[in-house]
Amino acid sequence: MATLRFEALKETLNRKSVIVTETERRSVLFGENVFNQATMLQYLTKDAYNSVMDAINNGAKIDRQIADQIASAMKEWSLSKGVTHYTHWFQPLTGATAEKHDAFFETIGDGHGIEKFGGGQLVQQEPDASSFPHGGIRNTFEARGYTAWDPSSPAFIYGTTLCIPTVFVAYTGEALDYKTPLLRALHAVDQAATGIAKYFDKNVKKVNASLGWEQEYFLIDKALVESRPDLVMTGRTLLGHSSAKGQQLDDHYFGSIPTRALNFMKDLEVECMLLGIPVKTRHNEVAPNQFELAPIYEETNLAVDHNSLLMDIMEKVAARHHLKVLLHEKPFAGVNGSGKHNNWSLGTDTGVNLLSPGKTPMSNLQFLTFFINTIKAINEYEELMRAGIASASNDHRLGANEAPPAIMSVFIGEQLTSVLKDLEGVTDGKLSPKEKTDLKLNVVGKIPEILLDNTDRNRTSPFAFTGNKFEFRAVGSKANCANPMTILNTIVAKQLVDFKKEVDLLIDKKSLKKDEAIFNVLREYIKTSKDILFEGNGYGKDWEKEAKKRGLSNNKTTPQALKVKISKKTLDLFEKMSVMNKIEAEARYEIEIEEYVMHIQIEGRVLGDIARNHIIPTAIKYQNMLINNVSGLKNLYGNDFKKYGKEQMDIIEKISEHIGVINMKVNEMIDERRKANALGNLEKKAIGYCEKVKPLFDQIRYNCDELELLVDDELWPLTKYRELLFIR
Ligand code: ADP
Ligand code: MG
Repeated sequence: MATLRFEALKETLNRKSVIVTETERRSVLFGENVFNQATMLQYLTKDAYNSVMDAINNGAKIDRQIADQIASAMKEWSLSKGVTHYTHWFQPLTGATAEKHDAFFETIGDGHGIEKFGGGQLVQQEPDASSFPHGGIRNTFEARGYTAWDPSSPAFIYGTTLCIPTVFVAYTGEALDYKTPLLRALHAVDQAATGIAKYFDKNVKKVNASLGWEQEYFLIDKALVESRPDLVMTGRTLLGHSSAKGQQLDDHYFGSIPTRALNFMKDLEVECMLLGIPVKTRHNEVAPNQFELAPIYEETNLAVDHNSLLMDIMEKVAARHHLKVLLHEKPFAGVNGSGKHNNWSLGTDTGVNLLSPGKTPMSNLQFLTFFINTIKAINEYEELMRAGIASASNDHRLGANEAPPAIMSVFIGEQLTSVLKDLEGVTDGKLSPKEKTDLKLNVVGKIPEILLDNTDRNRTSPFAFTGNKFEFRAVGSKANCANPMTILNTIVAKQLVDFKKEVDLLIDKKSLKKDEAIFNVLREYIKTSKDILFEGNGYGKDWEKEAKKRGLSNNKTTPQALKVKISKKTLDLFEKMSVMNKIEAEARYEIEIEEYVMHIQIEGRVLGDIARNHIIPTAIKYQNMLINNVSGLKNLYGNDFKKYGKEQMDIIEKISEHIGVINMKVNEMIDERRKANALGNLEKKAIGYCEKVKPLFDQIRYNCDELELLVDDELWPLTKYRELLFIR
């Protein structure tokens, strides 16, 4: 008998829910373990407090003496909460979070010790951390890495450790993480957007990009997950026949949340409250055992940190409930995969959402300005947007019949489409008073009303306008949002800079009024950005054809998609917007393509192992049972045995056929891996893995899954889909 599977099942069936009762209101818990403004006011001198606020709002430097004061206050606060260690918390190019704990404890000789934490330790550390991917940046001896405090994301306590969010950079200045380019992109979009917001309101001093992520995930019993080597090693099932029932009844989506899952969620949400992560929404998703968690949106850098932190603590909280969280984009074939919608908008320090229509014609013109510029930016850089979400695991979602396709397009709804159509007819140059009035009353002025009943919700669009924000839906569930958010904010920043130049030129050279100039430039943008707008079914084959005609990219695989990251256009963009220099951009490309290769390589090895060492021996064992049975029948019935042994003999043959194919395909796969590995060039290697190695996975899987249907359930070693997806 396949012991591990049955032991896991037994363990799972005997589980009792770990009940979580909340004794304190969430508003009371919120931010309890965060060194936030309220705590700072309590622990810091006025000077130190102002200095931190200046750093947060204006990027000002904090001088060393003040840093000492802040460090000492952080220590005092931490000790009052039983904290023993501190760590610089950063996000290296693995996409995960990294930490190296140091105790506050120091010896002072004479056999005594004290707790110590100074400004130096707060501001900068050298964790060495030389084993993180760096894409060649740290090849030179001098290029050591250090972490530096990011005061715009508050320090927090997790467990008994004070965590200080930091950037991770080489001594030569190049960024070794995802946070640094993101901060630069956010700065770029702030500057560019503020310049334009000032056309409408002189008091605007800062524009923040906001992000609200929606995290999808699967929740499966720990014992069941651990009984499957593929889930343990790769985060997804590499084989497994679909169960008779999947998601076809739609009986899980928004259904009542299973008790164990709900207790996990409560527990997780309480942790989130303490850490200042403003989680708000929870529900069942489409696939069985799939769920979603969404927060209230925040400033993007903070939101990215919070999502990274969340992904980390989800795993820890799940362990308390004997559950495993699967963040992989496609853990199970045949049911929905998981994504992470990135809801994005721009907001001013005067409290205006620039992607939300306002009450006056002028504020609506402001809305249209940001709205149309965003569309233009996506049109211009659609391929880069696709590259920003490319990964081996997300390839399973994009283009599959359930997730946004690999083609980028923007959905804006019928009403806004018609507004853009009207604006396209605006006169070239100066506008007559009548036209101006007409525009203000009948086109721009009508926007809030039309949006009120704008219930258009195209779920197949990868980038959809949803009333007061854009929703980038193609981001993978496991991804660090910093990558796509860096790209989005950079391309919008670049677009806004170009826009301002054009508008100012019309004002200065053609003496157009400000609003006339804006209308004129927007008109041209609408004309040139049409290709990216698509309102139809994004999953349809027709759209692929249509998109091709329009010249939109359709990069279905990661090696294809990533290429654009090192095109001249991309390198120029990042350089010009001071987000990444050439070395930094190229390093990321190299790391991402290498990561792709490693993922497919690992999957290939695991699949080969399972097929050969688990599936084939099991099939042979069952085949032997059948052979015994048939020879027994022959003993009993002589030549008549075929009459009674037909089904058995049929299966014996089928098993041999499947084993034969599996064996052949595994050999082929190993051979193709060898060939790909021998390619010196990383890009070629990735293409080899993508085009030669990976397609064999499906053929091996198909034959293993067929065997699953033939072999005695009692013998089958791998926990089955129906067990993974339906036991709660
Ligand atoms: P939907 O039903 O369109 O998904 P929700 O209101 O449920 O919309 O919001 C989804 C996510 O979008 C939440 O995380 C929410 O905080 C976020 N969100 C709402 N408004 C904005 C905004 N202006 N900028 C960024 N994110 C936003
Ligand atoms: Mg949504």
